Amino acid sequence: MNEQSEQSITVIGAGVIGLCCARTLQRRGYGVTVIDPLDPGMGTSYGNAGILATGSVLPEGKPGLWKRVPGMLLDPLGPLTIRPSYLAKLTPWMLRFIANTTAKRSEEISQALASIVLPGLEHYRALLDDVASDEVPIRQQGCLYLYPSAANLAAARDDIETRRQRGVALEMLSPDEVRQLVPAIGPDMAGGALATQSGHATSPLALSQLLAARIVADGGNFIKAKASGFAIGSDGPTHVHTDQGDIPVRAVVVAAGAFSKPLAKSLGNTVPLDTERGYHMMLPQPGIDLRVPMLINAHGYAVTPMQDGIRLAGTVEFAGTEAAPNYARADVLLKRARKLFPGLQDTGAEKWMGHRPSMPDSLPVISRSSRFNQVYFAFGHGHLGLSLGAVTGRLIADLVQDRTSEICHVPFRADRF
Ligand SMILES: Cc1cc2nc3c(=O)[nH]c(=O)nc-3n(C[C@H](O)[C@H](O)[C@H](O)COP(=O)(O)OP(=O)(O)OC[C@H]3O[C@@H](n4cnc5c(N)ncnc54)[C@H](O)[C@@H]3O)c2cc1C
Repeated sequence: MNEQSEQSITVIGAGVIGLCCARTLQRRGYGVTVIDPLDPGMGTSYGNAGILATGSVLPEGKPGLWKRVPGMLLDPLGPLTIRPSYLAKLTPWMLRFIANTTAKRSEEISQALASIVLPGLEHYRALLDDVASDEVPIRQQGCLYLYPSAANLAAARDDIETRRQRGVALEMLSPDEVRQLVPAIGPDMAGGALATQSGHATSPLALSQLLAARIVADGGNFIKAKASGFAIGSDGPTHVHTDQGDIPVRAVVVAAGAFSKPLAKSLGNTVPLDTERGYHMMLPQPGIDLRVPMLINAHGYAVTPMQDGIRLAGTVEFAGTEAAPNYARADVLLKRARKLFPGLQDTGAEKWMGHRPSMPDSLPVISRSSRFNQVYFAFGHGHLGLSLGAVTGRLIADLVQDRTSEICHVPFRADRF
């Protein structure tokens, strides 16, 4: 392997986060190498709901959540579940998660989220401004928060108000107005709120592949290998150890999604990263038309129109990175969606499970390592990694170049725990 030049950076992880970091750095003049055993975008970034959720300015934790833990243990098919065998391992993370549900913390987290979520789409536009717009698999047609019942709508009032306070443009829609926007919807629905500035990827995989193609076209390298640790010199890592041998490095960005924790630890930061597993069911012949993606938060899932059909995606399962998927959870998505869309067809349906990389305060780590100047962390984006890819790339590149960002880095520091 060639020695690395002064201007080169190695990114570990070719998910949407690693790819956005690599592409942003490359556009700023750095030589980039991306290491991943998978093809670009084939980790969690492959199967998400595709929503560029510029309205998602609320933390995942709600006060009183701890009261629901017994129910989560008992119902393996609920929208939020914990595998009993994983409870002991999860407890420290869950305690931190609950500690972040106070009104004060919710407010702070929401403000920090707003600083990166609101401009999410704008940063994609900037990152992809050298690509013809019809080749970018992103549409800005809004995102509809749908309320299946009057009780769901009433329970969402505070959230709607907070979103508006943070600057999210929301248009309240009556059931009739929802029907005009989504003619295929059935009668069981109490209204919606359209986040007009949000967008969606018509194929999250195509978005990652586009970024990867741009990186290669401009001379970046991809190495198919799994990183296991680092050789550390006096100034920081000199090599990354991989299953394909040692690779020399000068500067490193760890962007290995839910698998970043041991790599971050070997580079100076112990972080409480865990995974919220989620499922999707892809319906290639859905039998209905849908133009706008929808979030049904009361039931923990999304319905998104994509280039290859309609994708139902969501739910949260705490079971770690190793346990086998429980695809019955994907079947539940279909059952729920059929209550909204009575005509939904599942011919040729495909099921998938992925690992959201989740921090207990609902905020990603976008940070320099506490120990080494040339090491950066970009992981822990939880439910919002697709939405936050481009803005994360921007913030990491600013850190690498010691530039002041217009967004404050402090809430995203790795040493905040
Ligand atoms: C069901 C579901 C729905 C979702 N919906 C949305 C949505 O609508 N909008 C949104 O914004 N977000 C959504 N998300 C979240 C989003 O998908 C994630 O936050 C995002 O994909 C994380 O990207 P990443 O690059 O950090 O991780 P990944 O995409 O998982 O990429 C990490 C990469 O690191 C590689 N890697 C791991 N270990 C190593 C190693 N040791 N060496 C080298 N490489 C390694 C992996 O192979 C992988 O390719 C959803 C997630 C799920 C599960």
